[in-house]
Amino acid sequence: MAAKRQINVGGVKIGGGADISVQTMTNTDTADVAATLRQIHLAADLGCDLIRVSCPTPASTKALKDIVRDSPIPVIADIHFNFKRALEAIEAGAACVRINPGNTPEHGIREIVAAAKARGVAIRLGINAGSLARDILEKYGEPTVNAIVECAVLNCQKLEALDFRNFKVSVKSSDVRQSIAAYRKLSQLIDYPLHIGITEAGTLFPGTIKSAIGVGSLLADGIGDTLRVSLSGDITEEVRVGRQILKSLNLLKNAVDIVSCPTCARTLIDVVGISKALEEYCENVHKKLKISVLGCVVNGIGEARGADIGVFGFQKGVAKLFVRGKEERSMPEEEVLPAVKELIQKMEG
Ligand code: SF4
Repeated sequence: MAAKRQINVGGVKIGGGADISVQTMTNTDTADVAATLRQIHLAADLGCDLIRVSCPTPASTKALKDIVRDSPIPVIADIHFNFKRALEAIEAGAACVRINPGNTPEHGIREIVAAAKARGVAIRLGINAGSLARDILEKYGEPTVNAIVECAVLNCQKLEALDFRNFKVSVKSSDVRQSIAAYRKLSQLIDYPLHIGITEAGTLFPGTIKSAIGVGSLLADGIGDTLRVSLSGDITEEVRVGRQILKSLNLLKNAVDIVSCPTCARTLIDVVGISKALEEYCENVHKKLKISVLGCVVNGIGEARGADIGVFGFQKGVAKLFVRGKEERSMPEEEVLPAVKELIQKMEG
């Protein structure tokens, strides 16, 4: 179930009934402040709530200070191997540090927790099937669901023993079924917020499907408090896909949902062209609106009645417009786009 506990990452609440946040990760050289900030702004404009940046070198944590200062959204530092980078990142103002207990020494974790506590910084315990601690791997022989979950629970207990509870947990695997099973099991055992995602999901098309199945299944079960879609490609696609998954489950409060039909021999207006243009237009519109675009009256009237703005083919090349369930007027199909855009601007979400 969604976490009972809530943490605060730079003003973004995670868990405890808060809206599910979307995050992504820059793939620039973090030391290149301008390039990293460009990506962060692109992601934020698309509705990304949190941004993670890799901090593998002292140059990257040095740059982090400027990145944190100019980022429009809270910055999470991604740390592996060298715990000193986490201490530097906390010093530089990161809102959260993601650490991988599989490659961070015990004394390093203690130092990170002490620094995080002193600065009010959150931690993500990022357990990855691909980098489990050696003793757990020896016990289970391979990264099974039980191995992943045991590793997560043990590490939660370690942080609790240090009197630290300002953390969230992820148990990612590139195997969709394994990820779902691990998160389901973990959600029964701990009440810390869960960061969900399918790691190394692949390029845009397969990665979108894997993520939608994995993340979508968990969210539909009420599991997950923040998510990242991991794609080999443009980070803006990760934000688009993440938000679309939330939108599909009616979990996104500030986005336009567009319903469009698959078209068939009855289609009377350019459903595909109008829908695509509207999707593009609505990417940066952060209002909760539902728009339907259908090719004919078969399902067109019903969908239009249930939408904030509904259009459907009425005669060849002519659309009928409904607004908040009421029939407004007919118009030539080329007038649909400007009319709907004007309504989007005027309407309250
Ligand atoms: Fe075909 Fe009409 Fe259904 Fe669209 S709404 S798929 S045009 S029957």
